[in-house]
Amino acid sequence: MLSFSNTYIELGEQFFQRILPQKVAAPKLLLWNSELANSLFITEEQQKNSELLSQHFSGNELPDGANSIALAYSGHQFGHFNPSLGDGRAHLLGEVIDEEGIRRDVQLKGSGKTAFSRRGDGKCALAPALREYIMSEALYALGVPTSRCLAVVSTGEVINRGVAKAGAVVTRVAASHIRVGSFQYFAARGDIDALKSLLDYSIERHFPEINVLESDQCEVEKKLPFETRVLLFLEYTLDKQITLIVEWLRIGFIHGVMNTDNTAICGETIDFGPCAMMGTYDEKAVFSSIDEYGRYAFGNQGNIGQWNMARLADCLLPLLIEFTDENGSDTTSSEKAKEQRALEKVESVIHQYTSKFDEAYYVMYAKKLGMNEVNTTLINDLLAIMQAQSLDYTQTFLLLTKSLANSIKEEELIRKLGDWYKAWVATLKQYKITKQAAEELMIKNNPVVIPRNHHVEALLARCEQAITDKSNQDAAKKQVVIADIVDEFLHVLRSPYQEIDATKNYQDKPEDNDQYYQTFCGT
Ligand code: AMP
Ligand code: MG
Repeated sequence: MLSFSNTYIELGEQFFQRILPQKVAAPKLLLWNSELANSLFITEEQQKNSELLSQHFSGNELPDGANSIALAYSGHQFGHFNPSLGDGRAHLLGEVIDEEGIRRDVQLKGSGKTAFSRRGDGKCALAPALREYIMSEALYALGVPTSRCLAVVSTGEVINRGVAKAGAVVTRVAASHIRVGSFQYFAARGDIDALKSLLDYSIERHFPEINVLESDQCEVEKKLPFETRVLLFLEYTLDKQITLIVEWLRIGFIHGVMNTDNTAICGETIDFGPCAMMGTYDEKAVFSSIDEYGRYAFGNQGNIGQWNMARLADCLLPLLIEFTDENGSDTTSSEKAKEQRALEKVESVIHQYTSKFDEAYYVMYAKKLGMNEVNTTLINDLLAIMQAQSLDYTQTFLLLTKSLANSIKEEELIRKLGDWYKAWVATLKQYKITKQAAEELMIKNNPVVIPRNHHVEALLARCEQAITDKSNQDAAKKQVVIADIVDEFLHVLRSPYQEIDATKNYQDKPEDNDQYYQTFCGT
């Protein structure tokens, strides 16, 4: 079914627990991502075998070559360090090389208890599983780096979430599940050898260019100094986080729980728990029920990215102190001097974050306004107007895009945005950008549709109703009903930069402007 070649397992037993998924009562495949399956070389024949897929992707019967493990990691949750998190309800089946030659983790979530479950039941309710599938597909189509879902299987079991809920297992595919928290796990235990193994593994898997640099730039057999490798790893990871967060901001995504255990080194969006989309522009927008102080608010995501990278840097310090001598740097320094030097080195990388982030941020907004040149005043002024007047983020940029093709009356824009609109038109002229060129750029950077919270929730409610519908006891029919409901929405979300017939059904703002909308963690 999947050609597994598992490498993480070679790192050693302290990196994971070997554990099989818990068998479930009556697995039924509800959603299947055939495009993703094709990219993983799952044959058409196999994809037609719904019974087999249900068994494999519920964890009841593992595909050949799978080697099920739960990963160990720590994490800062809302700023507080928890040394023992880990996959409490997920099983990594193994890795597969996809059609682009990229190694991908295939992981079940909601597949039962592990050594890391603490007080949790190891399960996942149907709605959050469907939500992860929909949100990750939407992000993927929008061009945002993300893990994706291969399948959602209902388990036929009822789980307790205060009220009884249908259970499900979601299969996710990611470039890896190595997190900042994976490094923290070994740093917290003072296991320097494991830290070094994880670093070497992560470089090889995510930044092999660092290894190529060794052979290209140095004399024969002379490796890049270890210190340089460590600092490049930190810098590349930081660059990926910046790209990721700026992309979230571009489309109005609020991750909701940017803990270090949910920060993937590969720079993909993972762990969609309490995520939401911002309708009305508001830097302080927060929807997660537990984010009391707005730590993970829309406009604070960039700052948190830097904080998370500083936590990764903390983990690299002991490595720099311990191993820097390897390649012949200063062997005579005192411990204190080595510590100081290591600190200065990582700090210089972390300090670059602010300027790199700001640059990426303004370039992104420039493109949303049809420009390749940055005009910070113009951008900041527009954001301030949207904030002050509670304008819808997606609709405002769409309106501006449409204005270039003269399909919106100027008066409407002047009424909404006043002198700012005139300044924007004047700036385009000043930069000698034609309306057509600006429009082309804006179409690529401003979605016509996003997975708005009220539409996602309405759809999930319909799916939950369909699965518990007593008048329809036929599991196969339930499967079809749910797949149809989700497909209709996904069809639109998969075309986020182009209006198709059904797009208009999903562009509206919620009646209450999401005033009372709340999302929940680990549900
Ligand atoms: P999350 O909020 O999904 O990122 O999860 C944070 C931590 O809680 C991770 O270590 C998860 O494995 C664990 N966790 C979340 N939900 C459950 C559950 N139902 N059972 C066991 N562990 C869980
Ligand atoms: Mg998590």
